[in-house]
Amino acid sequence: MTRIAFVGGGPKALFALLELNDQCSPVGAEDLSVDVFDPYPPGAGRVWQAGQPRHVRLNVAAGIVDATSAEGAGSFASWVARVEPRYVTERYPPRAVVGSYLRERFRTLAETASFQLAHVPARVTGVARAGELWEVAGDAGTGFYDEVVLATGHGLPGEAPGPRFAGARNQDALIGDYGALGEASIPAGSRVLIRGAALTAYDAVLLLTEGRGGRWIPAEGAGGPSLGYVPTGREPAKIAMGSLSNLPTDPKPVRVPESINRCLDAYRDQVLAWGAGPEARPGGPGARCTGLFGILLACAMECAQLSGAPATPLALWRTALTGRGEPGPGTETAAEHLRRSIAVNRGHTPPGTAWVWGRVWSGLYPQLVLAVSRVRWDPAQARIFRRVARSLERMAFGPPENTALKLLALFDSGLLDQGAFPQHAPADTLVIDAVTPPPGILAAPAPGGAAFSPVMAGLLAAGELMVREGETGMLTDTDGTCLDASGNRNESLAALGRPTEGPTLGHDTLNRSLHDEHVRWARRIARQRMPQDLGERT
Ligand SMILES: Cc1cc2nc3c(=O)[nH]c(=O)nc-3n(C[C@H](O)[C@H](O)[C@H](O)COP(=O)(O)OP(=O)(O)OC[C@H]3O[C@@H](n4cnc5c(N)ncnc54)[C@H](O)[C@@H]3O)c2cc1C
Repeated sequence: MTRIAFVGGGPKALFALLELNDQCSPVGAEDLSVDVFDPYPPGAGRVWQAGQPRHVRLNVAAGIVDATSAEGAGSFASWVARVEPRYVTERYPPRAVVGSYLRERFRTLAETASFQLAHVPARVTGVARAGELWEVAGDAGTGFYDEVVLATGHGLPGEAPGPRFAGARNQDALIGDYGALGEASIPAGSRVLIRGAALTAYDAVLLLTEGRGGRWIPAEGAGGPSLGYVPTGREPAKIAMGSLSNLPTDPKPVRVPESINRCLDAYRDQVLAWGAGPEARPGGPGARCTGLFGILLACAMECAQLSGAPATPLALWRTALTGRGEPGPGTETAAEHLRRSIAVNRGHTPPGTAWVWGRVWSGLYPQLVLAVSRVRWDPAQARIFRRVARSLERMAFGPPENTALKLLALFDSGLLDQGAFPQHAPADTLVIDAVTPPPGILAAPAPGGAAFSPVMAGLLAAGELMVREGETGMLTDTDGTCLDASGNRNESLAALGRPTEGPTLGHDTLNRSLHDEHVRWARRIARQRMPQDLGERT
């Protein structure tokens, strides 16, 4: 009997198990059993809980949601048509709907998989080596396993590093559970200050308005369709969002011009070639990002020329470093920024450097993920890469247009405001903390940073994991196998998703095809069990 434990049963665990079922022949799956530990329903996990309010929505187009089998059975589109037909045409359906789908796909897999698959509704508190096996301890007692996969994503409530923001109404990060935003905690007419001004803060704003019965009415302005807000009187009197950086987030365009897509296509191979070349994989000293940024800058210049953006290499580089495009710091309110970004996306206003970078970063993202994963940066270069990546993420992966229009309607109604987060929250204000725990497993870069989950802390202390100097995420091999403190493959211990961010790029996603560690992991397990089976299938 081979026993596998998954610590965490969110989408990454589901995707790995779907692959395992596809890779294993019935003979290979004999005597194979998998236990998935998660206090939340598996498939959906904590983030995609099916019971959360329907006002919080998917932030990427529903086309990426895919928990099908190899034969293509069980697509999201067919599931929505069957179970939630009113969302069939929705590009950004509620997260609860996506969660119901993922939960059902796990259930179906548990009933039909060629191996035994069980959900253990419990928290894991420790994973430790026990001879040839792993001892997995938690609320459900202790069990012994041949293989462990760490797929803990955003972790569990109470595991965020450090104390929550003093006085915040929510004890835990706003992930899947929004009870703290109810009217008992935040009464109608109160003044609310949200710490954070990105996607989680937008969730909180929508829950305090639309979630309280507020309605959107279509409006037509000079810039095309927009929205107005009709309040119910159950909202706070005033909501302010604030972040330390006060950097804007740019909404995504509904469509990217074909000329830009064609331009991006010409750079894909260059990014991949950089990732395989000597600058990214030097024998000796750490990698440098100069060549990669040269390629991205050339692409951005070409996109700027095609789209009529008045950009110079210097202006583009400044935007990448500062996270702020034209017209420059402090000259636009958040509402003005949003209005202009929507106009740019609709082709009514010439784009600036931030729009160009958004298209380059999101358009070349699949190649960037491959090129930079596991690159061992020179420390100074690592700082530049992280800074630029953080800036460009905000320009590439902001809210969908409809969310932006809702925020704009709230700004215009005077209900919503945005600025720098104040040093001291005013006394009459209720604070909501909309900052989520950081990616990786350490609260601060290694060496020195402490792990914020007890499972990771124990494994690190025992030398079972490696976090490279300057990073916070654990280092894994291309099949997800963890590297131990000496840098050797720690066979039978693997990790997928957010805990590996840093050495990997963008691993915290619902997009199943952006990374293939879970596919390679499944292949390794299938190969171990039946080598000739693999030969037939790969
Ligand atoms: C509010 C929010 C909105 C998001 N929206 C999008 C989006 O629109 N599009 C997108 O692509 N991505 C989105 N993401 C990113 C999201 O994390 C990924 O889409 C996806 O959920 C990652 O899957 P995962 O399985 O790696 O992690 P998770 O979904 O976080 O699942 C990990 C699971 O592990 C469990 N777990 C953790 N520690 C333990 C333990 N010790 N014992 C037992 N179980 C444990 C947790 O309960 C959880 O269910 C969003 C994230 C958040 C927080």
